[in-house]
Amino acid sequence: MTGERDEIAVVGAGLAGCLLACFLARRGHPVALYERRPDPRSGTPERGRSINLALSERGLDALRRIGLAEQVMADALPMRGRMIHPVGGPTGFQPYSVSGDRAINSISRGALNNALLAAAAKLPGVRIAFEHRLVGLDPATGAMTFQTPQGLVTESARVVLGTDGAGSAVRGQLLAHGLVTESVDFLDYGYKELTIPPLDGDFALDPGALHIWPRGTSMMIALPNPDRSFTCTLFWPTHGTAGFASLGSPAAIERHFAQHYPDLPPIAPNLVDDYQHNPVGVLGTVRCDPWQVDGRVALLGDAAHAIVPFYGQGANCAFEDVVELDRCLDECAGDWSAALPLFQHRRQDNAEAIARMALANFVEMRDKVASPVFRARKQVEHA
Ligand code: FAD
Repeated sequence: MTGERDEIAVVGAGLAGCLLACFLARRGHPVALYERRPDPRSGTPERGRSINLALSERGLDALRRIGLAEQVMADALPMRGRMIHPVGGPTGFQPYSVSGDRAINSISRGALNNALLAAAAKLPGVRIAFEHRLVGLDPATGAMTFQTPQGLVTESARVVLGTDGAGSAVRGQLLAHGLVTESVDFLDYGYKELTIPPLDGDFALDPGALHIWPRGTSMMIALPNPDRSFTCTLFWPTHGTAGFASLGSPAAIERHFAQHYPDLPPIAPNLVDDYQHNPVGVLGTVRCDPWQVDGRVALLGDAAHAIVPFYGQGANCAFEDVVELDRCLDECAGDWSAALPLFQHRRQDNAEAIARMALANFVEMRDKVASPVFRARKQVEHA
């Protein structure tokens, strides 16, 4: 056993876990941050896995509190509205605010994760163990088993916080011990990322907008990247004849995009290769209850409440969790057994609300934004 009993263990060094490590270290806690992957700062990102994301005010608030907002925003691209791409005819811009100056920010997921990781690593009291995959947890004692390149390792902590994402192993362990219930509702849609590279050294589309191609049964969005490329995300059913599997050859891919997304092929020279080689990601809503057990083990971020990405709020919500837990610890004078139930009480209804809104926004984005009535209403609202 190598872990310090006094440590707070954070399992999962993704967005929520790294931010949480920063907040806890600033409270003076010794923190052990465990991550199944190697150090992402020294590797290349996985192909086709959510390269960028929209960071909104909720997420920025958390970054400001640890003095990281300015650094992260230096590379952010503000998107002040939606740009709708119909099958034929001109694109239409729908601003997000009446004044037109409010924006959500396109940022690189990898850069954000690395910035948070670096910030955590710099703080006294934080130790980070990469290539540590949690495979066992005794919720009564805080004993954890990790699979590492050297074999199984056992560690222990006073409090164990699971920030290990939608497929959380911490949640799985609580489930196996009969301490939580969960439901995972997979959407029958998946997603695939495609790239629009820079065109003659510049953005091929307006970088000040989130681009949407609403097509009813499918939808594509594109967010700008600092290197002047765009990352497109195509959402489409994962089974049946009208979905990803229906395009079995380069010719079929080219035909499909020329017919349904005619403005894309001229600016996406690697379309066929991207389509054939980038994976199809799954999407779903995770609900679980309770989020904490005996003030000793708790779940935050996607581990507690993964949502579909159509509101662009999953990471923002995970950041809000961290801020709220910090606030609860303040209000409970650092007493974890009081703070963790209070945290769940304050956050669970909010997480449920955003989960439902995210599902509803899928219908709006893939369908309603294209309707003449919706467009007219938006124009009146923003006139
Ligand atoms: P994750 O980011 O999943 O991090 C979990 C970490 O735990 C990972 O580092 C993982 O390697 C590690 N881990 C997993 N299992 C173990 C284990 N057994 N042991 C140790 N470590 C482990 N959100 C937004 O706010 N805006 C957006 O625009 C947006 N767009 C999205 C687009 C797509 C296509 C998708 C799929 C999601 C999007 N999201 C967006 C949601 C956002 O990605 C998540 O809500 C966010 O990543 C959750 O952060 P997290 O830290 O809880 O989990």
